[in-house]
Amino acid sequence: MASGSAIQIPSRLPLLLTHEGVLLPGSTMRTSVDSPRNMQLVRSRLLKGTSLRSTIIGVLPNTSDPTSDCDDLPSLRRIGTAALAVQVVGSNWPKPHYTLLVTGLCRFQILQLLKEKPYPVAEVEQLDRLEQFTNQHKSEEELGELSEQFYKYAVQLVEMLDMSVPAVAKLRRLLDNLPREALPDILTSIIRTSNQEKLQVVAIRPIRRINHIPSATEDEEEEEDHDDVVMLEKKIRTSSMSEQALKVCLKEIKRLKKMPQSMPEYALTRNYLELMVELPWNKSTKDRLEIRAARILLDNDHYAMEKLKKRVLEYLAVRQLKNNLKGPILCFVGPPGVGKTSVGRSIAKTLGREFHRIALGGVCDQSDIRGHRRTYVGSMPGRIINGLKTVGVNNPVFLLDEVDKLGKSLQGDPAAALLEVLDPEQNHSFTDHYLNVAFDLSQVLFIATANTTATIPPALLDRMEVIQVPGYTQEEKIEIAHRHLIPKQLEQHGLTPQQIQIPQVTTLDIITRYTREAGVRSLDRKLGAICRAVAVKVAEGQHKETKPDRAEVAEGEDCKEHITEDAKTESISDTADLALPPEMPILIDFHALKDILGPPMYEMEVSERLSQPGVAIGLAWTPLGGEIMFVEASRMDGEGQLTLTGQLGDVMKESAHLAISWLRSNAKRYQLTNASGSFDLLDNTDIHLHFPAGAVTKDGPSAGVTIVTCLASLFSGRLVCSDVAMTGEITLRGLVLPVGGIKDKVLAAHRAGLKRIIIPQRNEKDLEEIAVNVRQDLTFVMASCLDEVLNAAFDGGFSVKPIVERLNSKL
Ligand code: ADP
Repeated sequence: MASGSAIQIPSRLPLLLTHEGVLLPGSTMRTSVDSPRNMQLVRSRLLKGTSLRSTIIGVLPNTSDPTSDCDDLPSLRRIGTAALAVQVVGSNWPKPHYTLLVTGLCRFQILQLLKEKPYPVAEVEQLDRLEQFTNQHKSEEELGELSEQFYKYAVQLVEMLDMSVPAVAKLRRLLDNLPREALPDILTSIIRTSNQEKLQVVAIRPIRRINHIPSATEDEEEEEDHDDVVMLEKKIRTSSMSEQALKVCLKEIKRLKKMPQSMPEYALTRNYLELMVELPWNKSTKDRLEIRAARILLDNDHYAMEKLKKRVLEYLAVRQLKNNLKGPILCFVGPPGVGKTSVGRSIAKTLGREFHRIALGGVCDQSDIRGHRRTYVGSMPGRIINGLKTVGVNNPVFLLDEVDKLGKSLQGDPAAALLEVLDPEQNHSFTDHYLNVAFDLSQVLFIATANTTATIPPALLDRMEVIQVPGYTQEEKIEIAHRHLIPKQLEQHGLTPQQIQIPQVTTLDIITRYTREAGVRSLDRKLGAICRAVAVKVAEGQHKETKPDRAEVAEGEDCKEHITEDAKTESISDTADLALPPEMPILIDFHALKDILGPPMYEMEVSERLSQPGVAIGLAWTPLGGEIMFVEASRMDGEGQLTLTGQLGDVMKESAHLAISWLRSNAKRYQLTNASGSFDLLDNTDIHLHFPAGAVTKDGPSAGVTIVTCLASLFSGRLVCSDVAMTGEITLRGLVLPVGGIKDKVLAAHRAGLKRIIIPQRNEKDLEEIAVNVRQDLTFVMASCLDEVLNAAFDGGFSVKPIVERLNSKL
């Protein structure tokens, strides 16, 4: 009698939120999608998948304001229509969008939102039965009188129309052929109805379910669940939550008891209560702080960074004496990979506290910090409360990573929320939107990290004590590698020093020829790559070596003799193709390095790039540390235009104009001419200055001297010395003014293997901060005016000489 087996829709559906039209089961609709969320869904679910299953999506009418199509998921309706995507057409005009042809299959109800991004996916329950309509005559028994009546009304209605119209006749036939239970939906989509009316029809649960009497098994389930609720209530009563929280929880549990399980709100309330029980309201670890032990621990874990370690110890000592946490929050500022996170972890270790890192990079929504209100499906607590749940105690060390990368958006300012978290006057009653009751954060020790202070919101910066963590010198990096990174990598790869040996010269090669960074992150990664390669070699060797043993064990005592005999011959022949006898460590020399890491990435570059006039090396400061920067210039016929390209800001553009003006007014003195021999350098000439792109936009006045040098080289046709780098601001009159970031810049030049550095005279005092061994490798030229800069930048100087003399010296 049944016409075919029931079809089940997948239990997880991606959700398409539509603004236009309402899709009903049994009807087909064309809909246009252009929101990022929907586009992503189409791309990854409909354009990639091939199976039928993958083309079934959940269509939910989105009744919230279509213009507020922001990142945040709008609150969702609970019931929607599962649909088969029949056709997808993409277009780029007038803006990128897809047009979908979807056929409604059946209703579904959202049980739980599984993810929100990049598009929502929900766990769903199918509400209508979905038959394969192979046989048109269906059993109507279970549908009862009601649907029969509906059919009769529909027929009456249609028969009032003019039967001679083909469409009407077709509709009449349709009424007879369609399964009765599908009629209400299909008629709703045919007759003229408003979206609002359609929405109402979608939200009506099928008759069959309403009349449905719960079966015995469901009864049992309810029973079981009731037990769970009783347990939960017990946990709530015995937990140590605040009075306010207890009150809320008891109220919620009362509601839960009355709620049918199938309501989405049931799961929501339960999740909430479970979180409340789990939170460490009163649970903490006991601080154990002994300053001497802390010093040893910090020293053991971290090489160098003396200033930072000293400040951290002071901070801990003061805390111990005052016995409270009020006071500024430490903020470690420095390039990536210099150990900021690692020091944070050590602080937690010295105190015997739990450690949790909260990444703030890219967070632009205050609900990330403060949670979502519990009014819509998928709401969650913010990262602070989540972190507390993870660590399970109320006094962890929270590392707020990358506070300089906090964003801002329409969803409120996360920095403001963070301020509240950090403010000792307020944070004892921090209220997460999801919890909706206060949680005491006053025992949490917050530490922050950033690459630069420039982008930390001022109010936040005000709460912090900034500790600069500069980049490392080559020597420091070698020490860090051999004391910390290599032992850690060996352990991670199951290797011993008897198996692999990395001499210091090799480490230096990695540092200078395979990485260019202020910290040690790439270095660590390269060491990891080496260990992986060696681990494979060692494992291959071991495999052959251990064969006999394994055979012995497997075969038992009896056949030991025999097997060992066999194995012996095998292992002898094996040793022959082993590259090394297993007891010899594998030595990583430069050849091995090239084999594993490929050819060096940073070699020759400097002298190669300086092999023609019009190139000079500047030093830039970026939040990622110092960087060397090649400034390139070229000239061509034109009308005196200056073109600037590359990653540069406004201040740098000003420097470029200043540099040209100064050179033009000094052209005669230096005998600089344009292509047609005129001292007016811009006459019939265009200049193009290029600052090759780095990862970060550079700005600031300190490129002034480099631009002058680069242009002087271009117009004189002379090469700038390839071992010299420079930094300094310039004035129109040719003076050189001091600049910032000298230490990082000097380290960058040293890393790049440069030998001489031209710095402003007034920056001389900054050199004291630089390690002696770095200073020893370098020659510093202190310049107070541009003449001095140019004299130092060119071989044999750039002094004012008559042309004839210069020609003679060339001969
Ligand atoms: P950051 O947080 O500054 O980006 P990390 O703390 O993640 O840097 O450090 C990267 C890696 O380098 C970690 O494995 C860390 O232990 C190691 N490291 C950095 N500086 C030092 C140092 N001075 N001594 C020992 N290890 C270090």
